[in-house]
Amino acid sequence: MIPEAFTYERATTVAEALEHMGAGALPLAGGHSLLPALKLRLSAPEALVDIARIPELSGIRLDGGTLVIGACTRHNAIAASAEVAANAAVLAAAAGEIGDQQVRNRGTIGGSLAQADPHGDLPAVALALGAEIVVVNAGGTRTIAADDFFVDYFTTALEEGELITEIRIPGGQSQGAYAKFNRRSADWALMAAAVSKGSSGWRVALCGAGPTAVRAPGVEAALASGASPADAAAHASEGISPEADLGGSTEYKSHLATVMVKRALAAAGA
Ligand code: FAD
Repeated sequence: MIPEAFTYERATTVAEALEHMGAGALPLAGGHSLLPALKLRLSAPEALVDIARIPELSGIRLDGGTLVIGACTRHNAIAASAEVAANAAVLAAAAGEIGDQQVRNRGTIGGSLAQADPHGDLPAVALALGAEIVVVNAGGTRTIAADDFFVDYFTTALEEGELITEIRIPGGQSQGAYAKFNRRSADWALMAAAVSKGSSGWRVALCGAGPTAVRAPGVEAALASGASPADAAAHASEGISPEADLGGSTEYKSHLATVMVKRALAAAGA
């Protein structure tokens, strides 16, 4: 439970953070995934740069019709935001269900997306919202669609030395919901469904269904062609093969996917 030795620096600007990252430091945001990994020695960086108090990385604002959330905005701030509820209802709902109060007081949206835990709540939410992830590196800025961001277990499209600065979400998505199944209160999702209605119709995504969060294209297509939510939800298990573990068999989890999608669509008033 004692990490390898590391140096710690606190950055006050993005430029300062990038400078440290260029020298090999790993960004530390809420620390609620990174610190456990350090203590278990699953990760042993020589240097950390604390980005949690960089003012430009926190906050929620509307930019025209786009909801913009700073990478270091904490889960509780997102859950309590009227702008988020009005423009990305599924995100407000999911943020309020992450872990417990203590976790939500520290954990950040950027950290959750960068962590890309297959059972983390926010990757599926980002897919359902059609979010874009804005990233800076020594050479400039690039934007990655959530659809292209999650690559494998705990692996994203982020390159070494890249920092997420903000998450951009097409606004007006007031119709959306998150249905999470966990065995114990405040636990990670065994299976969860995020649904959101945007300008091009419903987007539906699952967490816990494989190595990364995934869209459920069969459900989306069924909804687009006028199927009832219950009939559409029956397509949720198409193309997924959730790993069997102590949480349940592949068949059980696939069934859960259908149930969670059905619940989320009902909660969203589909
Ligand atoms: P950190 O732990 O600081 O960092 C995580 C990783 O992301 C590190 O590799 C770090 O270098 C990198 N990183 C952080 N910020 C950036 C950035 N801006 N750009 C690039 N890389 C970055 N999560 C859920 O989704 N659902 C749950 O139910 C849940 N329950 C939890 C229960 C407990 C008891 C704990 C301890 C955690 C739980 N979490 C849960 C995880 C929590 O949401 C974490 O806060 C989150 O996964 C990581 O966010 P963080 O800000 O703490 O990131």
